[in-house]
Amino acid sequence: MKAIGVTRDGDGPELLDVERPEPTEGEALVRTLRVGVDGTDHEVVAGSHGGYPEGSEYMILGHEAVGVVEDGNGSGLEAGQVVVPTVRRKPDGETNEYFRRGEPDMAPDGEYVERGIVGDHGFMSEYFTSPADNLVPIPEELAEYGMLVEPISIAEKANDHAFSTREPFEWRPESACVLGNGSLGLLTLWMLGREFERTYCVGRRSRPDPTIDVMDELGATYVDSRETPVDELPDAYEAVDYVFEATGYAPHAVQTVHALAPNGVGALLGIPGPWEFEIDGGAFHKDIVLHNKCLIGTVNSHVTHFEDAVDTLEAMPEWLLEELVTTIATPETVDAAFEDDDDQIKGVVEFAAL
Ligand code: NDP
Ligand code: ZN
Repeated sequence: MKAIGVTRDGDGPELLDVERPEPTEGEALVRTLRVGVDGTDHEVVAGSHGGYPEGSEYMILGHEAVGVVEDGNGSGLEAGQVVVPTVRRKPDGETNEYFRRGEPDMAPDGEYVERGIVGDHGFMSEYFTSPADNLVPIPEELAEYGMLVEPISIAEKANDHAFSTREPFEWRPESACVLGNGSLGLLTLWMLGREFERTYCVGRRSRPDPTIDVMDELGATYVDSRETPVDELPDAYEAVDYVFEATGYAPHAVQTVHALAPNGVGALLGIPGPWEFEIDGGAFHKDIVLHNKCLIGTVNSHVTHFEDAVDTLEAMPEWLLEELVTTIATPETVDAAFEDDDDQIKGVVEFAAL
């Protein structure tokens, strides 16, 4: 079957011919419809994040997928059901306490593999197999954009963890700022627009730009970080109650604290490489303490976040989905989905028609 993967001596995503996987007991066979590409995939391709399955000369890419059950194989899923796979799996098929309590996203390094990212093949192939409890059923009418359920689930978890840190007191947030105008940032911007009176989104581009058009249409204020660094938000606009960082630009982790209003919370999601820079550690420490600020890190998501994400996707307006999905490539034209220019928001590889 056709698969898109990286090889140890290759230099980018390639069309591979690999054997169709056979479902083992408890697994279903899924026919892939669409697979999305995000910043993490680019980091995997560049070799700065993740790693190959043990002993394999290649890794099939892709962790944002939607497919149709081809063979339920006694797993409890019916053929024809549209499903979205979760990403984290038990290492070596073994279980551990995080998986037992349904919180694989909280497992530390080495206690999990991630399909298409670290230690296991992804979903960018005509078929994939998966245990049924890692397949989240979605309504058929959401199949077209079902590959967005995984990235939305990332934001669901981050928002859930961030907001729950403010539960012990009466938090009345009004403003939120998303750092990053990639697909994760823009999906989250729409989500936050439902809960916050004022939203901001930070990028580093000039108009005209398709991502700034989306911000305009969402009623958010565009902030150009080349003119207004994140820690100058309070002076230029306002100190915000919530910051959602989705750039991977390491100084943002530090600047977020100063951008926050008293009692605010910042969620960090970006995955930077090593980066040394100078900061005023005293001011950073004191600002967090004296203003009851909170900074959290968050990675991955689990089944309940996927379920929340299905509801969120259902509520998203069609125009937004159409603007976010900028390329639909085939396995033969896969390079177009990995193109990373300013016109690309979300590239998608389509394996089978809906
Ligand atoms: P993208 O690469 O598509 O988006 C990142 C965006 O950040 C780009 O639009 C980029 O702008 C912008 N950016 C980078 N540096 C700056 C800066 N200094 N000022 C303003 N904007 C900046 O990635 P995704 O949206 O897919 O993901 C965002 C980040 O989150 C990535 O680091 C990714 O690895 C991470 N991630 C983390 C997950 C988790 O579970 N924690 C899950 C998924 C993703 P431009 O294009 O103009 O360069
Ligand atoms: Zn992703």
